[in-house]
Amino acid sequence: MNRAAFAEVAVNAGHPARTAFTYAVPEGMEVAAGQAVFVPFGQQVLQGIVLALTCESDVPGLRPISAVADPTPALSSLQVALARWMSDYYLAPLWDCVALGLPPGYGQKPVTMVSPVEVPPLLPVDPKDHRLLAHIAAHGQVTLDALQAAVGGVTRARLRRLQEAGYLTVAQGLVRPSARARLQRRLKLARPAEDALARAGELEESAPRSIAARLLRLLAAEGDITLAAAREVGATSRHLRALEGEGLVSEYTVRIERHPLAGRVFPARQPPRLNAEQQQAFETIAGKAGTFLLHGVTGSGKTEVYLELVQRTLDAGKGAIILVPEISLTPQAVRRYGERFGDTLAIIHSALGVGERFDQWEAIRDGDFRVVVGSRSALFAPVRDLGLVVIDEEHEWTYKQTDPSPRYHARETARELCRLAEATLVLGSATPDVVTYHDSERGIVRRVELESRVAPGDHGVAEVGQMPQITVVDMREELKSGNRSVFSFALRRAIRSALGAGEQSILFVNRRGSARFLLCRDCGYVPQCPSCEIVMGLDEHARATPQLRCHHCGRSRRLEEHCPRCHGPRYRPFGVGTQKIEALARQEFPGARVARWDSDVAGRKGSHERMVETLEAGEIDILVGTQMLAKGLDLPQMMVVGVVDADVGLSLPEYHAHERAFQLLSQVAGRAGRRDRPGTVVIQTYEPDAAPIQCAAAHDYRAFYEHEIAHRRRAGYPPFARLVRLVYQHRSHEHGLDEASRVATGLRTRRDAAGRAEPDILGPSPAFIPRIRGRTRWQILLRGRNPVNLLAPVHLGEGWTVDVDPASLL
Ligand code: ADP
Ligand code: ZN
Repeated sequence: MNRAAFAEVAVNAGHPARTAFTYAVPEGMEVAAGQAVFVPFGQQVLQGIVLALTCESDVPGLRPISAVADPTPALSSLQVALARWMSDYYLAPLWDCVALGLPPGYGQKPVTMVSPVEVPPLLPVDPKDHRLLAHIAAHGQVTLDALQAAVGGVTRARLRRLQEAGYLTVAQGLVRPSARARLQRRLKLARPAEDALARAGELEESAPRSIAARLLRLLAAEGDITLAAAREVGATSRHLRALEGEGLVSEYTVRIERHPLAGRVFPARQPPRLNAEQQQAFETIAGKAGTFLLHGVTGSGKTEVYLELVQRTLDAGKGAIILVPEISLTPQAVRRYGERFGDTLAIIHSALGVGERFDQWEAIRDGDFRVVVGSRSALFAPVRDLGLVVIDEEHEWTYKQTDPSPRYHARETARELCRLAEATLVLGSATPDVVTYHDSERGIVRRVELESRVAPGDHGVAEVGQMPQITVVDMREELKSGNRSVFSFALRRAIRSALGAGEQSILFVNRRGSARFLLCRDCGYVPQCPSCEIVMGLDEHARATPQLRCHHCGRSRRLEEHCPRCHGPRYRPFGVGTQKIEALARQEFPGARVARWDSDVAGRKGSHERMVETLEAGEIDILVGTQMLAKGLDLPQMMVVGVVDADVGLSLPEYHAHERAFQLLSQVAGRAGRRDRPGTVVIQTYEPDAAPIQCAAAHDYRAFYEHEIAHRRRAGYPPFARLVRLVYQHRSHEHGLDEASRVATGLRTRRDAAGRAEPDILGPSPAFIPRIRGRTRWQILLRGRNPVNLLAPVHLGEGWTVDVDPASLL
């Protein structure tokens, strides 16, 4: 037998299966990998995606696939392979991985459908069922909900009884995706305009105000119109049928594209000539499969290199995906892709309606859009003949999905996708993730450097620009010299001179974690866990005496009254919010126009664009905000950047706190003075010798990398170990701890029984945020070369979440 008789199917069963289910393919049914089907599952009929076809199966009595849901396969074979890889790598339910590539609207729950039978039994019908049966006889197949609304009293038991007696059939099905493309009915002339005008004249002779004549004149003028426009001149379907009968007009239906770029015109821009460094980078990367790290300082022209690479990819007849960290925050970047690839560009972001996303998905699959720009989920766009994936600002943590499952990282996933597609992957950053950089040191990733900033000259000729001047202010010294304000002397001076010159300043305030940390104002000491090398936080749940706790390993100790290092008395919680800084800035700089930008403001749609416009129009002098500010702003008048409280960033209780602080400081510093003149950056800190601060101030990525990689090696963090985080949530504190302990013990036993020393199993300990929405949270951390191996065969029940390579352990 050479016909595929069996299919492996990923089923939307709402439970965390990581394996596919096997079904028989009925005689005569055409199915292919990637095809959407309906399959029986228990008592239900559920949605599934065929992953593979086989000729043999050793399982007897397999149930057949019920139906093909859509004749065109929903996923390509590449996407199917990627979904399987994700499910294995991230220990994620197979369906969740498959669903990422499906068109919007596919993930819905099936509904119960009730249908009449062709030949009802001849038995007398119970009078109380008359109405119900009459309804389905009249309407054909209806949903259970619709039936209930129409006749009432429709229970499952009653349906079962009627089904068993042979009066109707009950089945599970899917309503068609609600995100169908919108259709529009239109009218057009079927004959030349002169004919229509002649006929209109005739009609008007007998009836001067003839509606049909008016319609014909309108059509003669416009060529074709919407049905709604025809109605506006009074036309009814009677008029239309009559004119259609005469062969003068015809009605037709078009699909309305809900393209989010519709109505936006991008002026075509002459691409600049790449400078020597950029050209070199371009030539190294173009057309080669594999992973490249494009390491270039902010403003070194990485985006111009990406644009050329995309162009080359299109010229080779292939498609490209460009990921940007937060698309709503990078309108300037999006504009540049629009200018260059406007007619074949799709932009995917979360603010799109389901209808828009559906239209885009189809247009991408059909090859109408060959360049896709979007946030991490754009990786799953069905781009044809994928040749290139670019991940801009590859170090950004928004590339890791935390919830819901699959908790994937776009970078790792893109690597696998490009491997499968034999495509080029470009990871771009001024401050690469140390894991990526480490890979480039080992030669797994090829590194390409852009070392100088570009300053666009008047004639489009690139010149070398300057890096901003960075001053680190030691706040301990400020205190000693009697300055108790949150603004150092240096920062005040810089802002005053900017105000005097009509230039703009940013005051950057670190977003505080929800737990507080301790900082000694005299010596800058912050308590740390000796074995985990992370900051210990104040344990908000400690009962009698205040405690410090490490949320990795659970170690705790009493909070000292004085600083354990210098015995100073000013050892207290630290951190000021944006609102407070805004108020202080108004006091300090009277007359300046001060605005605030943080998550309170940022949530509103279009608010970022408005803020950028207000800044560009010069209506703001001082902008106070959180790290969101650091992204994608390119403002010629922004000359001063003040980092008010760099210590907050350094003191997050995370193993990569220093890396994040360095990235952030480098990035905000890059916001100052991007054009012809270097800007001024002031970093305020109680710990001026900390590596992230020193290295950011010196623009020295390499030095920071050496520092950070040593810490990772010493304490056993990525890239020297992989982490898996398990979190258990439960209403009861005691039950939560019991269950978490049971799992931790089980894992240790399993590890020991296999005679392995790895992975480390830390915990259970209360999660950093120990209670969310009335549920306590317990955390277990696995750390080793391959902790996934130990975990893969284990079935964790309800209430557990698994996060492989977690971006945050908070
Ligand atoms: P990055 O992505 O590395 O931050 P960009 O690509 O945004 O840098 O470049 C910074 C600025 O320099 C942009 O305004 C860009 O248009 C301009 N630019 C980059 N390369 C060139 C070049 N070769 N010639 C002229 N202008 C350039
Ligand atoms: Zn610890």
